[in-house]
Amino acid sequence: MMQIFMPLNFLGFVYREMKGSLANIEKMFGLLEHEPRVRDCEGAPPLRVNGGEVVFEAVGFGYGPDRRILHDVSFTVPPGHKVAIVGSSGAGKSTLLKLLFRFYNLDSGRILIDGQDISRVTQDSLRKAIGVVPQDTVLFNTSIFENIRYGRIDAGDDEVREAIRLSHLEGFIGQLPQGADTRVGERGLKLSGGEKQRVAIARTLLKRPPIIVFDEATSSLDSQSEQSILEAIAEIARGQTSLVIAHRLSTVVDADTIIVLDQGRVVEQGSHAALLQLGGTYARLWDIQQRERGAVAVPLP
Ligand code: ATP
Repeated sequence: MMQIFMPLNFLGFVYREMKGSLANIEKMFGLLEHEPRVRDCEGAPPLRVNGGEVVFEAVGFGYGPDRRILHDVSFTVPPGHKVAIVGSSGAGKSTLLKLLFRFYNLDSGRILIDGQDISRVTQDSLRKAIGVVPQDTVLFNTSIFENIRYGRIDAGDDEVREAIRLSHLEGFIGQLPQGADTRVGERGLKLSGGEKQRVAIARTLLKRPPIIVFDEATSSLDSQSEQSILEAIAEIARGQTSLVIAHRLSTVVDADTIIVLDQGRVVEQGSHAALLQLGGTYARLWDIQQRERGAVAVPLP
């Protein structure tokens, strides 16, 4: 009997895991209610990731024919680099990432991962290559330990414990009545935004995808949570290509490249130091933050 139950149980687990990671992407982009808009090309091969270089090449896009959202967007993220995308609300930051996941087809230009046009590979392989840390992650009605294991269902207990340590969840878990066995979700413990984001980071640490997309929480975090999340992000981003939608400049300072978007156009790109020297849009944003002395993390205006 066990022989029948075990695989069924395992399949159920795999199904929930797949639904879980897709739900995270959908939740990140508010896509739950939508029909798929893109289809795989006939005989499309899987994406082969080798390093994880991401290239946006003259990308133009609008959700409808009447309004262009992105205009001629070009930038390159070399393998293993961290790129931060900044810009005012509505500038097109989330749209860029939705296009990287190929939730929509482009109007013009191309997006390449390791030289392969993402519109020519299977969507399944594309989405498997990209790990997502959303602002508000989906938690299941099970223990916090199993919630983290959803990042990679075959991960051993030691690996889950290591992910907990690296994502700075040990202190939080240590205070729970049943530690990592405490149930979360509807009938269990409620987690704060920062704690949920660290669970998402721990899952991503277990998954170790070659490309990571991080949507920084807009809600203000206390400076200790902010610092521990920054350290946890640095841990998952180590050696991996990462794209961060940054709402706070504190996340941006150590990025290899900062892309400044304004009304769907890349108006500046470079390191923090280079952009300050340029004295343009980014330098103005930075000045605003500097004037807010005493605040560790000031949201971008
Ligand atoms: P924020 O910082 O506020 O999240 P953002 O820079 O991420 O903003 P996007 O979410 O990419 O901006 O939105 C860019 C523009 O595209 C906005 O004007 C927005 O209204 C529009 N937009 C976003 N999603 C859709 C959609 N599904 N259909 C039509 N227009 C959309």
